[in-house]
Amino acid sequence: MRQIHMVDLYGQYLRHKEEIDLAMQEVISSTAFIKGPDVQSFQEELAAYMGVDHSITCGNGTDALQVAMMALDLQPGDEVITTPFTFIATIEVISLLKLTPVLVDVEPGTFNLDPEKLQGALSEKTRAIVPVHLFGQAADMNRILEFAGRHNLYVIEDNAQAIGAAYRLADGSTKKAGALGHIGCTSFFPSKNLGAYGDGGALFTNDMDLGQKIRSITNHGMTERYHYDHVGVNSRLDTLQAAILRIKLRHLDAYNQARQEVAAAYDAAFAAIPELQVPVRNQDSEHIFHQYTLQVNNGSRDALRDFLKAHDIPAMVYYPLPLHLQAAYQQLEYKEGDFPVTEALCKKVISLPVHTEMEEDQLVHIIDTVKKFFSK
Ligand SMILES: *Cc1c(COP(=O)(O)O)cnc(C)c1O
Repeated sequence: MRQIHMVDLYGQYLRHKEEIDLAMQEVISSTAFIKGPDVQSFQEELAAYMGVDHSITCGNGTDALQVAMMALDLQPGDEVITTPFTFIATIEVISLLKLTPVLVDVEPGTFNLDPEKLQGALSEKTRAIVPVHLFGQAADMNRILEFAGRHNLYVIEDNAQAIGAAYRLADGSTKKAGALGHIGCTSFFPSKNLGAYGDGGALFTNDMDLGQKIRSITNHGMTERYHYDHVGVNSRLDTLQAAILRIKLRHLDAYNQARQEVAAAYDAAFAAIPELQVPVRNQDSEHIFHQYTLQVNNGSRDALRDFLKAHDIPAMVYYPLPLHLQAAYQQLEYKEGDFPVTEALCKKVISLPVHTEMEEDQLVHIIDTVKKFFSK
């Protein structure tokens, strides 16, 4: 059996090696390293895939979130609602822009922002909601969009973990996660479902003015050459990354399907283990399993992790400490007990390897080892 990894990026590369090597060689030969033709082509192909009018690439997913908030002209002191159960980037950029993050707890099943809790977080200063589509499925966007519409709030989707997931709207139509709010943001960090060979990110919108402003802000706020209408940043996707991502985008649906097949095998194997909660699906969202995350309900999460490790199976805890209890965010003045669902999840969750290159014998080994742990 081949060694098991959380993600198998090298194995995935080997499948497309010739095509990727050739594309990289072409970029190097052209020396169009910044803003080369592959960047424009990738943006167009990505917009078509996402079903949006404007797709603007940038340096990474964190920048995408920051640029989104800059483009919406959020001002210091404005409040932005998000969750404490996410990657740090989500609240990092809110704080960097001197906006105020207002956290609301998540749903215990889906790990996503609990729309029931929005009303309690609303104030006169609230300007935006940042739902995070955690682990590969969209938050309850129908209710979040309805709430945002009623209170005139912007919705910025953190879609770093759910690119490609389809979502059914209240009117019965289907759109992609990341194409539902005013602006969608994503990341091409190597281990994401659509991963580059370095950093990368993108923003999505259907609003032409916002699209232009985002394009300008990612390029120093420039409109005409050496004329600057906005305070901007330098955040661009390299041509090399765009060339690689153009190839990988054509396989994204197949990648997501491969992840779903691994998840289905795990579900079938673990559903009957009383100590485990398999991932709960949002009824309106497809799940593309950026992570396959179990809840261990009998306090033995860390013991399970050690047991897996002893059997050469990596497993990760996303996330071990909620954002409101991180040292860097103490000035927000939250305390232990403020978000009980998130705090409990941090002690229960464990993510198993799920990626596009899983082999049958690896999958069987992981499943048998988890089962063995709970039959002890
Ligand atoms: C990865 C990630 C980001 C940040 O993306 P980078 O490209 O690493 O900057 C933001 N939010 C979430 C939820 C993520 O998983």
